Amino acid sequence: MKVSFKDLGLVNTREMFAKAVKGGYAIPAFNFNNMEQLQAIIQAAAETKSPVILQVSKGARNYANQTLLRYMAQGAVAYAKELGWKRPQIVLHLDHGDSYELCKSCVDFGFSSVMIDGSALPYDENVALTRKVVNYAHKYDVTVEAELGVLAGVEDEVSAEASHYTKPEEVIDFVKKTKCDSLAISIGTSHGAYKFKPEQCTRDPKTGRLVPPPLAFDVLKAIEKKLPGFPIVLHGSSSVPQEYVDIINTHGGKLPDAVGIPEEQLRKAAKSAVCKINIDSDSRLAMTAAVRKVFVDKPGEFDPRKYLGPARDEMKKLYMHKIVNVLGSNNKAR
Ligand SMILES: [Zn+2]
Repeated sequence: MKVSFKDLGLVNTREMFAKAVKGGYAIPAFNFNNMEQLQAIIQAAAETKSPVILQVSKGARNYANQTLLRYMAQGAVAYAKELGWKRPQIVLHLDHGDSYELCKSCVDFGFSSVMIDGSALPYDENVALTRKVVNYAHKYDVTVEAELGVLAGVEDEVSAEASHYTKPEEVIDFVKKTKCDSLAISIGTSHGAYKFKPEQCTRDPKTGRLVPPPLAFDVLKAIEKKLPGFPIVLHGSSSVPQEYVDIINTHGGKLPDAVGIPEEQLRKAAKSAVCKINIDSDSRLAMTAAVRKVFVDKPGEFDPRKYLGPARDEMKKLYMHKIVNVLGSNNKAR
């Protein structure tokens, strides 16, 4: 049975992106797989009155079950209202859709936004696939994110060895032909908690920590010039907070040289045409750090609420920090 996102109380990205580009801030896109993550995201968004994109990858959809996800998203809207957020602006978005069939299925299942990632295909095939998804999605007022350029790193089924920056000379033709609503670009961000190899970085002599190379803001600028006011998306934009890495590593974990995108660079990006910033790894790290800490500090604990609860609190703290201090999307959905 088909269901429209509108019946679930969700919104698409059209209006919120237009406002974000104009207002010089970015909308958070947080991935979720389970109840605690969803609670943390909704609590953070409701308290800060920030529009929010609930992001589900193909892997998460398989993990959580698509029917359950639909009701969780619907429940998230009701929960947000219960928390006192009168007009919640919540998007349910498919992250890295890899086929027309998957995107269609998500549109039919109540998603308000889908990504079709044809970035690994030859240019013309990417155009054709994206166009086909847009044709279907727009019939139901569902917005579509496309991708040009290749990001390095691993995220669920998405993986690539090396990144290739988006070519600014291709973006006008691509957007015109596909009619996509937003465009994910590659300017040096990447998926996962190891965004740069040690040889790409310098090392801070005082702390011994890796200092990553800067993002390619010249490429972003060139793209903005070609597509004035068009919504741009950054994937792989976790900062890999070193305090979480340290807690994990001192509580039985092993994440040597995990490194992300410094927050001041994301702050700079959020002020540009970048209007959606994807953050997944940071909440995984927050959750893992909190759970590991309970396991080490209270080895007798075996009530899941006693370790998933602290994990939820830590994720909420992280989400609020991102919204208020990095993306600037607070008070934009009153
Ligand atoms: Zn991604």
